[in-house]
Amino acid sequence: MYKPFMKKIPAFGKKFIVGQNCNGCMICVDVCPVNNIRILPKGKKEWLDHCEGCLACLQFCPVEAISCGGKTDERPRYHHPNVTADDMLAQKGAAETGRSE
Ligand code: SF4
Ligand code: SF4
Repeated sequence: MYKPFMKKIPAFGKKFIVGQNCNGCMICVDVCPVNNIRILPKGKKEWLDHCEGCLACLQFCPVEAISCGGKTDERPRYHHPNVTADDMLAQKGAAETGRSE
């Protein structure tokens, strides 16, 4: 089951939709650990094809503007209460520069 499931993950990103209530904060872009969200003109976003399915973009959006496949609209968002978007960004920066905490 694992291999077929994993093959579907990269395309997962194509299921994300951004609603009209997006405020342009770019937290979704910042927290994506694999830089899978590209910024388009006028602040629109495009999910690329190397999503890892972590859902950080969806869970950290402060206004719940991101939905996935039409199935998440009514679901509560959650991320670990002691982990902030800034923490995610710092960890990503450390990984990209090869630093360890
Ligand atoms: S995190 Fe949410 S509000 Fe901020 S830019 Fe992304 S979709 Fe828009
Ligand atoms: S934050 Fe996670 S779920 Fe969102 S695009 Fe990046 S890898 Fe995919």
